[in-house]
Amino acid sequence: MRKNIVAGNWKMNNTLQEGLNLAKDLEAALKGKKVNCEVIIGTPFIHLASIASSIDTKLIGISAQNCADKASGAYTGEVSAAMVASTGAKYVILGHSERRTYYGETNTILKEKVALALANGLTPIFCIGEVLEERNSGKHFDVVETQIREGLFNLPAEDFRKIVLAYEPVWAIGTGVTATSGQAQEMHAFIRKTLAANYGESVADDTSILYGGSANAGNAKELFSNPDVDGGLIGGASLSVDKFMPIVEAF
Ligand code: PEP
Repeated sequence: MRKNIVAGNWKMNNTLQEGLNLAKDLEAALKGKKVNCEVIIGTPFIHLASIASSIDTKLIGISAQNCADKASGAYTGEVSAAMVASTGAKYVILGHSERRTYYGETNTILKEKVALALANGLTPIFCIGEVLEERNSGKHFDVVETQIREGLFNLPAEDFRKIVLAYEPVWAIGTGVTATSGQAQEMHAFIRKTLAANYGESVADDTSILYGGSANAGNAKELFSNPDVDGGLIGGASLSVDKFMPIVEAF
């Protein structure tokens, strides 16, 4: 059975102290509450170990926002999947459009990152999505299918079952323009059909597909009410407990 998930992506925000406070405040807000989704925070690397040892990671899963495409060695400045796993983090966001655009991450590079994440017991939250020109020229389905095929379809089904997908139309990320509920459902259904064609209905049905792109307290309920939208990857609104909690509670 697939899970409902609300995952925050803090991006490059919060000092260590600010991040610890935010994580603890979120933990306090969640404690004693019955929520109908898994809650995850995607923090900068430097926060992972401190946060993982300061809060109940059964209440809030911890995610990195990236990992290296190499296992170890002379790659100055990089952080490996094994290092991420050693902090207590259980997830890693891979292929975010900001990584693809600003740091040249291709599907080929991402394929390596996914393999290393899985080999180290991390769950990849694999991001896919089209830019505005691609949607306007009707190429959005092809773009998303290519990202999934080239980044993930080398995996055997038992490994693919460990992947969480996040559909994030690039034109909706951080812009305040959210995909309509219909646009989100249409793409999520297409993604599930693409998974079913490659891995079969059971794998497709069991895969959580999150929506990301200016999701907020006002639109989360409608987005999450779609049969193929299993939660959200939340950027801006994950930086404040007051904005993030209503999204968690939208399920
Ligand atoms: C994101 O960065 O993954 C994201 C969805 O950002 P925002 O919610 O701010 O659009």
